[in-house]
Amino acid sequence: MKFLVKSIKTAGVSLEDVEIAVGRLAIEEEWEPMGPTPMPKIETLRSWDMKLLKRYRPFYMPICDLCCLCTYGKCDLTGGKRGSCGLTIDAQQARIVMVACAIGAATHASHARELVELLIERYGEDWPIDMGGEIHVEMPNTRLVVGIKPKTLGDLAFALNYVEEQIVQTLAASHTGQESDYLDFESKALHLGMLDHVAMEIADVAQVITFGFPKGDPDAPLAEIGLGCVDVTKPLILCIGHNVTNSIDIIDFIEKSGLGAPGEMIEVAGLCCTAHDIVRYNKAAKVVGPISYQLKFVRSGAADVIVTDEQCIHTSILHEAQKVKAPVISVSNKALRGLEEVSDKPVDEIVDMLVTGKVPGVAILDLEKAAAVAVLTALRIAPIRKKFKVVPDKEELAKVASKCVKCGSCRRNCPIDLPIDEAVSAAKNGDLSKLAEIHDLCLGCARCESACPRGIPILSLITGAADYKIKTSKFKMRVGRGPILDTEIREVGSPIVLGEIPGVIAFVGCANYPAGGREVAIMAEELLKRRYIVVASGCAAMSIAEYRTEEGTTLYEEYSGAFEAGGLVNVGSCVANAHISGACIKIANIFARRRLRANYEEIADYVLNRVGACGIAWGAMSQKAASIATGFNRLGVPVIVGPQGAKYRRLYLGRKEDIESFTVYDARTGDKVWVGPAPEHLIYAAENKEEAMVMAAKLCLRPNDTTKGRMIKLTHYVELYKKFYGTLPPDLHLFIRTEADIPITHKFEILEYLKKVDWKPWERPVVDPTLLERLIRVKK
Ligand code: SF4
Ligand code: SF4
Ligand code: SF4
Repeated sequence: MKFLVKSIKTAGVSLEDVEIAVGRLAIEEEWEPMGPTPMPKIETLRSWDMKLLKRYRPFYMPICDLCCLCTYGKCDLTGGKRGSCGLTIDAQQARIVMVACAIGAATHASHARELVELLIERYGEDWPIDMGGEIHVEMPNTRLVVGIKPKTLGDLAFALNYVEEQIVQTLAASHTGQESDYLDFESKALHLGMLDHVAMEIADVAQVITFGFPKGDPDAPLAEIGLGCVDVTKPLILCIGHNVTNSIDIIDFIEKSGLGAPGEMIEVAGLCCTAHDIVRYNKAAKVVGPISYQLKFVRSGAADVIVTDEQCIHTSILHEAQKVKAPVISVSNKALRGLEEVSDKPVDEIVDMLVTGKVPGVAILDLEKAAAVAVLTALRIAPIRKKFKVVPDKEELAKVASKCVKCGSCRRNCPIDLPIDEAVSAAKNGDLSKLAEIHDLCLGCARCESACPRGIPILSLITGAADYKIKTSKFKMRVGRGPILDTEIREVGSPIVLGEIPGVIAFVGCANYPAGGREVAIMAEELLKRRYIVVASGCAAMSIAEYRTEEGTTLYEEYSGAFEAGGLVNVGSCVANAHISGACIKIANIFARRRLRANYEEIADYVLNRVGACGIAWGAMSQKAASIATGFNRLGVPVIVGPQGAKYRRLYLGRKEDIESFTVYDARTGDKVWVGPAPEHLIYAAENKEEAMVMAAKLCLRPNDTTKGRMIKLTHYVELYKKFYGTLPPDLHLFIRTEADIPITHKFEILEYLKKVDWKPWERPVVDPTLLERLIRVKK
């Protein structure tokens, strides 16, 4: 903030027309000496990226080997051919990945900007960043990258300026005739991923400090989740998207209007990440579920009003909502859906327009007005709509299915090859069980419907057949707690870095699962039993909730919410992913006392070599998921994607036989030492959940593990491998440095194996590993 003072007179000073600037103290305060890379540009961390890319070489799987991005094209890039602009196929693949990361980072930055601007308007730019007594490193990503210790909402706006400027600069490299080298495109993708984590951190911290969300509370409350958790006899407002502000205004309006908490007289339910954030605000709201439930729930007709904000909203939402006569209110200018913008009209007039069906929906960019319209419309329209449904009842199902000619077009177009043709055909004869089975695996994309030549509403058939399951689908999810406490980091920093906690596994990302969300929960349960710290966010955190253990409880009820061995931590929505990268950064800073301020390379080097963390984005689908994963990669955290994730078209794979690439400096002596392929890959696509679990255990291995830590980590790797493949892992010898590393429970078997492969104890089993020459303490 700047203001002009016409004149100041004190005993010794007399000034006129001075401009005084306040509010940027965070930038100026010397809380820690400035590190080497404040506000890095494209080239600043390029040498770090090249170190990573030398070891983890991009592996491309072109989905399309043409380019049609400019009017010279389309260009065939196969067989070593170049495009008219000179571009090669590897650079084109890297460019597409970079553009995906730019889209993802821009989406979070835009989300953060909207939140911050609105919150400054409501709370003032001096609103303090207070994350509670147990969080002093309040924004590790921002401190690390931007080099500031933000104190106020105004500081967040300043940090966002940097993020936005860098996204524009980097995206410009994708224009025809700019960047041409695939590794440089990859470096830019990594840059964008890093920026994305700053943007996410800004978005989440802004909402945590203003809306009263939990501030790292391990005992955050449990909320209801599931397609059957809403009371459909009450008026119901369904909020879909990622920017929770309007949903919070809806809850506030309901309460101010004397209608009680959500669920008392009117239901407020959310889908996708908005749902996560609604229940962080008020646990009486309901979480319907991840993105894959969108069309299923809308078609159920339960929602009386549908409010859409931004991101991951099915673009046919208006069309679908019209089928069940539910008006749509769009509150984001990024998704106006062709609707009339009525922000200036009086509330009553808009409500009339919607209730009478004069318009199918409206766009309202005044969020408080949109909230009032949503509530008043829901109250008036609910008795009229009588929960209009397009999902056929049982009797109708066979009739609708009877049109099927079993052509198989639906199955061929299903992204996960579900046997829809057989299920619809069976339904013709009254057997609905096959359709009901498909329900649990179905992504809810409705691509099968578009492909059906007979116009059969296949998704509605699937939903109708599973009606009995849907009605009883009620679970508990611990609401997103936000960041990890500094005190928790102090407790677990040492056992994580020394390897005594086998690892931190983060289930992140969307719901494009190869075989249903249940797989995510099964993986989480296996790892929790093995005392990994399991962290979750976004759709994955919801899928974990929708599963019952043998005891009949959900994992959130059975396991502690603390960041500790065997703890299950739901951090919250997509933007809360920044708290997972933030925890890795805080381990380096709080536990190992590495300087944080603008010191990206050193911290990433620390994480890569010491912090046994790994992400599993089992249903990664969006561009945001691409940039989030790539941001983790730049920080030295490996990510496993599911089989659908291969469609991102690029993996970062290490070659364990390449000794040189897994050679590091021993910071104590300056010697170059081979440390084994740990971690082996940075982005890996697993074919099934079993492979993902085994790979996750392996990707938590780090060169810095103590012998005790390595033994514990290898125990899990060996046990999981034996459980799913029946033998010892074929690369086990590459990770055993001395006999003391060998898991006790399998010692004899492993010793025999080691003899067969002619294993020898390493000369230098324990080193102080780094990829950065400047960190060598003794110069030779
Ligand atoms: S950008 Fe290059 S490769 Fe792509 S269409 Fe244009 S000329 Fe061809
Ligand atoms: S596409 Fe339609 S007609 Fe063909 S098998 Fe599938 S449901 Fe039947
Ligand atoms: S809606 Fe379900 S069954 Fe249909 S194509 Fe999508 S995933 Fe396959």
